[in-house]
Amino acid sequence: MTDAEESDPCDDCRNPVSDALARTIRLTVDRSQIDSQRLCPECFADWIDRYEDEMQPVDDGPEVIDDGESEIIVD
Ligand SMILES: [Zn+2]
Repeated sequence: MTDAEESDPCDDCRNPVSDALARTIRLTVDRSQIDSQRLCPECFADWIDRYEDEMQPVDDGPEVIDDGESEIIVD
């Protein structure tokens, strides 16, 4: 009998986050789910920032060959 059962921890910072505030991210490539995370609002914002950074084209680095279509689904 703990309150923890009602609020699972954030997958990133491990702080309890209520369902009302939690964001679930599902990252899919070619329609197969490759990542799913339940995040608190702060970690969600960080995750989106990181994701958008990684999506930026890199001028000097090796070319990333992306042969799949990826998308984020946020519940
Ligand atoms: Zn968090």
